[in-house]
Amino acid sequence: MANLTRLTAAELSKRLGAGEVSSTEVTEAHLERIGAVDPAVHAFLHVDADGAMATARRVDDRRVAGETLPPLAGVPVAVKDVMATRGIPTTCGSAILAGWVPPYDATVVARLRAAGLPILGKTNMDEFAMGSSTEHSAYGPTHNPWDLGRIPGGSGGGSAAAVAAYEAPLAVGTDTGGSIRQPGAVTGTVGVKPTYGGVSRYGLVALASSLDQAGPVTRTVLDAAMLHEVIGGYDPMDSTSLDAPLPPLVEAVRDADVTGLRVGVVRELGGDGYQAGVRARFDEVVALLSDAGATVVEVSCPHFDYAFAAYYLILPSEASSNLARFDAMRYGMRVGLDGVADPSAEQVMAATREAGFGDEVKRRIILGTYALSSGYYDAYYGSAQKVRTLIQRDFAAAFEQVDVLVSPTAPTTAFRFGQKLDDPVAMYLSDVATIPANLAGVPGISVPSGLAEEDGLPTGVQVLAPAQADDRLYRVGAVVEAMLVERWGGPLLDRAPQLEPSA
Ligand code: GLN
Repeated sequence: MANLTRLTAAELSKRLGAGEVSSTEVTEAHLERIGAVDPAVHAFLHVDADGAMATARRVDDRRVAGETLPPLAGVPVAVKDVMATRGIPTTCGSAILAGWVPPYDATVVARLRAAGLPILGKTNMDEFAMGSSTEHSAYGPTHNPWDLGRIPGGSGGGSAAAVAAYEAPLAVGTDTGGSIRQPGAVTGTVGVKPTYGGVSRYGLVALASSLDQAGPVTRTVLDAAMLHEVIGGYDPMDSTSLDAPLPPLVEAVRDADVTGLRVGVVRELGGDGYQAGVRARFDEVVALLSDAGATVVEVSCPHFDYAFAAYYLILPSEASSNLARFDAMRYGMRVGLDGVADPSAEQVMAATREAGFGDEVKRRIILGTYALSSGYYDAYYGSAQKVRTLIQRDFAAAFEQVDVLVSPTAPTTAFRFGQKLDDPVAMYLSDVATIPANLAGVPGISVPSGLAEEDGLPTGVQVLAPAQADDRLYRVGAVVEAMLVERWGGPLLDRAPQLEPSA
């Protein structure tokens, strides 16, 4: 039998449905792979072997009993540690949540369970989803399977690396400024940030509530569409959830065609600051789209130049407010002040937050608190919100001319550990191209575009569509993927070094 960890979720779904393989076998194969390579990759913070196998057995029993099951039933999935999982530890990459076992499931997780996907475990991430490298995880970084000395992107580097290293066929992540798409680009995987409100935020540890969005992390565009259909759609538990049906996504992949589609290349997302090999692969994709019958034009979104600055006021502001709940009373860590007679609640809170939060989290709490403070609110937070409106108008104007926008996903390929750790702004710039979509709430996908010749590392192309037109991401993504895989003679990940199982 073919190596089960090498199959896509769509292929696994077919074989499971045909009774050629059981979920128990598929899940066991992935747990074995995790055991073999995760000591080197460190994609997982917690592996739930018993829980995953119990789900797999249940799905197998139901199938044997003749029940019709959802398409992905029995296909295992990895979950970013930002999502509450009943009975499974959830740390959000932070020491302050060490030992917290949620009493409930995030809606995304509940939907995965209801659809019969065994949950392999929780994936590593930058603390509270702040970062582009997973180096800010309190539990040590994840390593990029293409080069273990390099970052897998962030904040959702664990989910991307798990999928790239064949430890999981599917994963879910969250994207507040790029944390699904940028890890996708630098690991040669597919990542989707759905339309804001398209996938429930209920049960996600909040970073910036007006920007956060959960979405699929996979090896193929079809797999992402299948997973998106499981986790997406209206949820009354999330007040910002869109009460509208998802557009047909799997169908968009199966009937993918770009003939007559108007594609806009965003002038402001490219050029200076983008690595040569990233640019070269992007230009090739644009040429391919044109060959496939799309009409390609250049589009200007002048306020995108200010998106980065606006984001780094809005995100810390919302984060400083959201993180106030980690007060030593409600969740996780509490630092007892043994040496202090009668410590006040404030003293315990301060000591706990001092010990429990890492440097990047503290940096953003300070920034956000400052930006929101009286006297500065209008100058910083208020101005940033006005810029956000201008960016939304840029998108609206662009989508009057074109059906989708394209750009490189990230300006560089995977960098080395430590390279940007002491320079927060250099780290933040990893998301220059992904941030505008979060500020406007529009959906985006990153699809592998090839390897940069200067370092042989993967790069990604980003497709953006109007809100609630997520199907267009899949349509364009599937065409790009099909043309490139044909050119490469197989999936890009086939060229990644084989990881040697650790002894
Ligand atoms: N790298 C960005 C940040 O640090 C993105 C975060 C995210 O999408 N969660 O804020």
